[in-house]
Amino acid sequence: MLGKMMTQPLTISSLIRHAARYHGATEVVSVETDGATTHACWAEVEANARRLAAALGAHGLSPGDRCATISWNNRRHLEIYFGVAGAGLICHTINPRLAPEQLIYIINHAEDQVLFLDATFLPAAAKLRDHLVSVKHIVLMGPRDDAAAAMIDGLEFYDELLAAADPRPDWPDLDENTPSSLCYTSGTTGHPKGVLYTHRSTVLHSLGGNQPDGLAISARDTVLPVVPMFHVNAWGVPYIAAAVGAKLVLPGPNLDGQSLVRLIDTETVTIALGVPTIWMGLLAALRASGSTAASLTRTVVGGAALPPSMIAAFRDGFDVELIHAWGMSETSPLGTVNNLLQKHSGLDPAEQAKIRLCQGRPPFGVELRLVADDGSILPEDGRTEGNLQIRGHWIVDTYFRADASSLKDGWFDTGDIATIDPDGYMVIRDRAKDIIKSGGEWISTVELENIALAHPGIANAAAIAAKHAKWDERPVIVAVKADGHDPTEQEILASYDGKIPGWQVPDRVVFVDSLPIGGTGKVLKTRLRDAFGDILLTG
Ligand code: AMP
Repeated sequence: MLGKMMTQPLTISSLIRHAARYHGATEVVSVETDGATTHACWAEVEANARRLAAALGAHGLSPGDRCATISWNNRRHLEIYFGVAGAGLICHTINPRLAPEQLIYIINHAEDQVLFLDATFLPAAAKLRDHLVSVKHIVLMGPRDDAAAAMIDGLEFYDELLAAADPRPDWPDLDENTPSSLCYTSGTTGHPKGVLYTHRSTVLHSLGGNQPDGLAISARDTVLPVVPMFHVNAWGVPYIAAAVGAKLVLPGPNLDGQSLVRLIDTETVTIALGVPTIWMGLLAALRASGSTAASLTRTVVGGAALPPSMIAAFRDGFDVELIHAWGMSETSPLGTVNNLLQKHSGLDPAEQAKIRLCQGRPPFGVELRLVADDGSILPEDGRTEGNLQIRGHWIVDTYFRADASSLKDGWFDTGDIATIDPDGYMVIRDRAKDIIKSGGEWISTVELENIALAHPGIANAAAIAAKHAKWDERPVIVAVKADGHDPTEQEILASYDGKIPGWQVPDRVVFVDSLPIGGTGKVLKTRLRDAFGDILLTG
């Protein structure tokens, strides 16, 4: 034999074992649903996860069985992530904000055997109970609660389950290709589709996505994932935090700016992650509270395009760097992260800021390309727009229980329209289904929204395609006025002058009190198109 290196399976249990062994005393802070803040540590989280694995074994679950969660970001949810996957079962995180019919569809389609529930969602689950055909155990994530027990027959209690279980002495050996977690995509059309992650894809995502030019989370960080644990595994942050032994702060149900400011200051958070809407709330609360968010050095922003005005507001006002990232449920989610290259260090701040607006570059482990509608490969010149395709170690191949692979030529089509420049910086121009096609020419809604958002009188804005008799579609802005401002439609339209070609300037601006926001913090454009899509036809 020429020699040999060890082969160890890349498992999620190896992440939590590492956290408990080498960072056992590092804190895991959790805001509970009743508002209390609890302080545990990685060693306790691992011990509880092993107890949970034993309890699920005693319930007679078989490898690959699905255990669902409907919950906020908190300590018990974290233990379920590791306990369920570590036991060889599949942790199916569910977005609580879905409509009841969608919840029923997803739970039945996944054939979930166990449903872990946060107290907030107990009344809703009680109403659905009779429709959930596969669910054998419903577990309230907390101590015994008699009022809750009266709402659902046979309700079990997480803390009692754990207290009664003998913790497993160690984690079982698993093949690294064993499925570990399941997440359904928002499903704007048709039924939601499940993405089934494996131990291997999750561990490689944790390693590849957390390089110095990726999220760069370390043992010296205190990490606040505001992104929900029901949305693409909180962008993988729980696994990454375990892999590096970072202090983790789980914010529970209160994601308003004020609560986040308090948490950042009391727990000295260094890095926070979430969608742009969350950071708009945080910015307003920081300004109102007078806090300087002194501990916070960076926030990772993704899930929707980062408005340029926000980068400057955080940098100049609070010395916080905004790191733009792009991804989707199908990509675990990290597809790109924005960091500068060595050659950019000499550029002036305005030039650097322009580069930082891009969605970023792929970390090792994923590759991107642009493809025309006819399948030909497009140039990466920073100008040519095309269908964005991706491949890599943590990218979906076949949806959960689908008959066939979703890949074409080994690549996954993201449904996004993008440009890529010669350095690999990618810019999302639009969702293929959101882009506005005016007289056959494409208009990017992202660009139109950014211009509206830069106006001080606008708190939030969405650009949609409205039907048009001559041009097929024309852009319309649906906007929310900022507190204390009363801009007119003409004033907002005038702010587009000189910034984009005249034919791309929106036809109308409609003011509303608020934009419809979906479960993952994104604006529901389908809802806006239903409400305002005919506005140019009816006058
Ligand atoms: P989801 O699977 O629900 O996470 O949605 C993924 C989609 O969100 C992507 O395909 C993009 O259209 C959009 N998205 C995610 N991150 C960004 C970003 N940084 N900028 C623009 N769009 C984004």
